[in-house]
Amino acid sequence: MRAFALFALLQGAVAFIEWGYRQAATLERAQQWVDAGALWPLVPAALFALTAEVAWTGKKRPALPMRVGTFLPAAFFLVAGFAVPGMRRIAVPTSWGFEYEFQSHWLMNVALVWAMVLGVVTLLVVVLTIRRGAPAARRLSRGFLRGIAVLVLVNLLHGVLWLLFDLELPSFSTLGTLLLVGVIAVSLQRYGAMELAPQFSAGTILTTIQDGVVLTDETSALRYLNPAAQRLFRLDGKESVIGRAAAEVLPRNSLEPTGTISDEERTLRRHDGSEIRVAFSSAQVTAPFGGRVYVFRDISERARFQARLRHLAYHDALTGLGNREAFQEDLALTVTRPARAGEDRRCSVLVLVDLDRFKEVNDAYGHAAGDTVLIEVARRLQETARAEDRAYRLGGDEFAVLLHSLRDGADSEQIVEKIRRDLELPMILEGAHLEPEVSTGYTLALPGEDETLVLARADAALYEAKKVRGGTRSFAPGDLLPTTRRGLVHRIVRDAARNRDFAWHFQPIVDEAGTIQGAEILARLSDAGGNPVSPAEFIPAAEESGLITELGRQAREEAVRFLDLLEWPEDFHVTVNVSPQEITRPETVDEILAFLRQHQAFSSLHLEITETEVLELGPSGRARLQELVAAGVKLYVDDFGSGYSSLGRLRTLPVSTVKVDRSFLLSWEGDERARALVEGTIRLIRGLGLEVVAEGVESSDQLDVLRRAGCRRFQGYYFHRPMPGEDLLPLMRQVLTQAG
Ligand code: C2E
Ligand code: CA
Ligand code: CA
Repeated sequence: MRAFALFALLQGAVAFIEWGYRQAATLERAQQWVDAGALWPLVPAALFALTAEVAWTGKKRPALPMRVGTFLPAAFFLVAGFAVPGMRRIAVPTSWGFEYEFQSHWLMNVALVWAMVLGVVTLLVVVLTIRRGAPAARRLSRGFLRGIAVLVLVNLLHGVLWLLFDLELPSFSTLGTLLLVGVIAVSLQRYGAMELAPQFSAGTILTTIQDGVVLTDETSALRYLNPAAQRLFRLDGKESVIGRAAAEVLPRNSLEPTGTISDEERTLRRHDGSEIRVAFSSAQVTAPFGGRVYVFRDISERARFQARLRHLAYHDALTGLGNREAFQEDLALTVTRPARAGEDRRCSVLVLVDLDRFKEVNDAYGHAAGDTVLIEVARRLQETARAEDRAYRLGGDEFAVLLHSLRDGADSEQIVEKIRRDLELPMILEGAHLEPEVSTGYTLALPGEDETLVLARADAALYEAKKVRGGTRSFAPGDLLPTTRRGLVHRIVRDAARNRDFAWHFQPIVDEAGTIQGAEILARLSDAGGNPVSPAEFIPAAEESGLITELGRQAREEAVRFLDLLEWPEDFHVTVNVSPQEITRPETVDEILAFLRQHQAFSSLHLEITETEVLELGPSGRARLQELVAAGVKLYVDDFGSGYSSLGRLRTLPVSTVKVDRSFLLSWEGDERARALVEGTIRLIRGLGLEVVAEGVESSDQLDVLRRAGCRRFQGYYFHRPMPGEDLLPLMRQVLTQAG
């Protein structure tokens, strides 16, 4: 850049002097001077200087002698042009027949030859740079060539004007040179922006970058802080900190007396107490003084983002409690953490909490309300928990609390009781008064225990507690868990479903006279030792593992097989239990319909679904039921009277028959008023146009009452126990021949 400036200055001076000569009387002399081409050597000299500058960029700058070597002859030539009086005129004949005359002097000739050599070398360098140089240098060299082209063009034009019109405009050469300089200047500027910037604008860079840069001297006094550093450390710049001890101004843990540190993440505490997270580098500097340079990159934002990600990964989005991940990790920590000194007899307790009938809240008030309940439960859990405890939401309506540093197991009982009490306080939800009910299971978590065992114990406790809604159960380490039995049953069901090991019993449904009109098909299962496993055990297991759909499929196939054996008598039907899981899965509903169509079994194969389950179905589940009924399926409400029976609801269900539960019959025993209620209920059901089947009839007394109430179909031990198909077959043949 300096070479360029010098050249421009020189050129400007020449133009000025030339102009001055023209104005003066010594016009002739000026003419001679210009004609002698006094300016020409300047061009290659400047070109060479600039090219050399570029070619050396990033390496060593061209040495002073070299620069002098390029400019000295040119300057000399200039001076000679003025100073040497007796220049010779040389006449050169050209091919056009003109004679081109110019004056010369031996000194000028020397300079001219020198300039030519420089010009050739320059062109060589330019060409080489274009072929091999860095992209920026290449671009710059092309700029040179363009500049030379402009110069040649301008001079050609000048020559043409001069030859044709005898128009002599000596300053044309000056103009051309200036244009050349202009083109080169633009190129150089672009080039500078690309590659020379770091060298020429370190100061600008320091004030622009967002990294804080601090320089200290050998006494650890501050020598320089860039604006970013001032912002980072909240030094408002009103009073200069330059010269003060670094330790007074910068965070204490940011100063390193020795060594090199590169991009180390640290949390720094500013002197005003606030914290920043930085990536920190530091190194010794040697010149011009022996201090250190510190670079701070503010990564607080990134750190916050990372913390947020970590939070998301370990927290439940809805309630803000720890999630299952966090729970699992903390539980593992709880059992692996060695007891601290002085707390050898302290223990931890794992509490599992499950909201009872949460689904009903969702169904009745909508999911937003359900969310509100969950959030409130979380809030209460956190409020009850002590500082050292932590609450988690494990999913759905299941929560966990880890209680730490308890004195003994007895403490835990009280705390769990308190948690329950708090959770069961009434809530106001959309104006409705809600009394949450929770089941809790808890267990001690002993140091050194396997955490899966602890969880299994708490799980088993919760499972037991849920059997009686709103219960609390706990298991102590070493207790025999019912869950092991549960696991066993799960396995038996899985194997049975795979190997079609279920046995099938049929329990007849009879009319008043005891004539068999139909039968309910019931699954039977026994373990490896041949001991029966109760449906009360394996049906829930099948539901939990999702195998209930497979069980249902096999039940329907067995029912059809039995009907096949009987050759599908017209007034005989088999009822099959369906589980809500089958109703909520659209593909199963489709499968059932396809199956019934395939066997044309709509009038012979009926479906039972329990009352509670029907009521728990969501809108889509109900739509499925409607779909089934619309296709011609006969639907029974099973176990009516065992749950929260509602005649009102019954009216809205697409069912044909109601099976009144055994427990409903039992309730009237010895109680006239209750009996009246049963009678009334059955009448009302019939009044709704629905048929009634009384289940679990065990005595003639019960039969009497039922009959009087208008019940016409019965199922129960009084008539028949569930029996294998081969036992029912002869009974049925008998019935059919009697009828026939
Ligand atoms: P459920 O559908 O209410 O079936 C009637 C239950 O009452 C049967 O019990 C039957 O043995 C019993 N029972 C019938 N009459 C009397 C009586 O007079 N006195 C007494 N004390 N009990 C009587 P089981 O076979 O143990 O079945 C229990 C439940 O398991 C069934 O209740 C049903 O909900 C379910 N289940 C059985 N098989 C299947 C199946 O294939 N699929 C589905 N989804 N559920 C099934
Ligand atoms: Ca049933
Ligand atoms: Ca039933």
